[in-house]
Amino acid sequence: MNIYWEKDIETMSRADINKFQLERLKQTISRAAQSTYYGNLFKQQGITANSVNHVSDINKIPFTTKEDLRGHFPYGFLAVEKKEVVRLHSSSGTTGNPTVIFHNHHDLDAWANLVARSMFAAGARDTDVFQNIAGYGLFTGGLGFQYGAEKLGMLSIPAGAGNSKRQIKLMQDYGTTVVHTIPSYVPHLFDVFGEHNIDPRTETDLRILFIGAEPHTEEARLRIQDMLGVKAFNSYGLSEMNGPGVAFECQYQQGMHLWEDSFLIEIINPQTLEPVAEGEVGELVLTTLNRRANPILRYRTRDLTRLIPGTCTCGRTHKRVDRMKGRSDDMFIIRGCNVFPMQIEKVLMQIPEVGNNYIIVLENNNDVDELIIEVEAKEGIFLDNLAKLERLTRQITTEIKNEVLVTPKVKLVEPNSIPKCEGKAIRVNDLRNQF
Ligand code: ADP
Ligand code: ZN
Repeated sequence: MNIYWEKDIETMSRADINKFQLERLKQTISRAAQSTYYGNLFKQQGITANSVNHVSDINKIPFTTKEDLRGHFPYGFLAVEKKEVVRLHSSSGTTGNPTVIFHNHHDLDAWANLVARSMFAAGARDTDVFQNIAGYGLFTGGLGFQYGAEKLGMLSIPAGAGNSKRQIKLMQDYGTTVVHTIPSYVPHLFDVFGEHNIDPRTETDLRILFIGAEPHTEEARLRIQDMLGVKAFNSYGLSEMNGPGVAFECQYQQGMHLWEDSFLIEIINPQTLEPVAEGEVGELVLTTLNRRANPILRYRTRDLTRLIPGTCTCGRTHKRVDRMKGRSDDMFIIRGCNVFPMQIEKVLMQIPEVGNNYIIVLENNNDVDELIIEVEAKEGIFLDNLAKLERLTRQITTEIKNEVLVTPKVKLVEPNSIPKCEGKAIRVNDLRNQF
């Protein structure tokens, strides 16, 4: 059985990837020079396509940050005439200008192809029925997956986000086999299955789930797989690099192949801005290699990950990145310790009595920082006796202390008592320095 969507590209030798990337990098520099932003920058620094003779020469080009994109909103990065542009996507931007990315026909086709290639690698086929539980607006998870699924040839259901009862009905009416959603939505969907006495494992045809757009741990993935009786595949993307289809797990679920024909990968130390040693964690920096309307060079994603050494059993040669550790701006410092929310999630999701929802609250009481973890217990746990509950609270406290070196205050709460977020889950509520 063919496991590749585009075998030639997916299994290219390293030497061929380097050659291919160099050619595309040169094209990208030439195209980018047509935009006001890069045009000025390249002129100042004397950068042309001839400045790079090997992909590693990318370090001659300055980094691009989200602030650069915002600072030149809306058209400063546009590298083609406006009449050639056919769509834009923009990310939320709660303060200041949003970031906006423009696409021409070529860009949209190439993006859909990457999403199709990604879903195919996980095992989705044209015989599947695909339900996309994602917002269909400016958020890239809606249209991004839609066009990818159509390109792959699946019967696709543009379900949109929310309304779990209707989602379940769609799954049952049309025999949905493949779903895309954010991971934090799955426990809620699972509860609604329960309320209607439907067992998703036996009373649906679900087999593949694509989860992405927010950080989650391996432990959360295992729970999700178990709840729905599916294989869940990690999907990474960001609107600056199109959206979904940047890096994706293959059937072996051992890290995400980052599509190197379309993106050039660097992993840097966010302080020194130098490359980290192979296999070390750092900030992912990406360059578009196949985008025409809105090329971006050396974009600092702020996402922290590492390259996984070695080759993948699937035979694909494109490098794999590890599950995102979080964003550099997710990290909080408490009593001198650097903590990532995912460290806490990892501990919580390993404890069977712990439910699926939690929130981390940071408070400052009388000049002392407190790490408070509100965590839902599993259904039925509160019927147990007090001694058992205390033991569970103590266990959570100790295990978190061992992981993050700060002793938290753990509050076990009833199932479904922590408010659900619209869209991506908010894991940290920092109330320090608030008056
Ligand atoms: P917005 O900026 O509006 O949230 P984006 O689509 O640009 O919308 O969000 C992209 C970000 O989402 C990434 O930079 C990353 O932080 C996060 N993200 C996306 N996919 C994953 C994933 N599989 N694992 C962890 N984080 C992810
Ligand atoms: Zn693989």
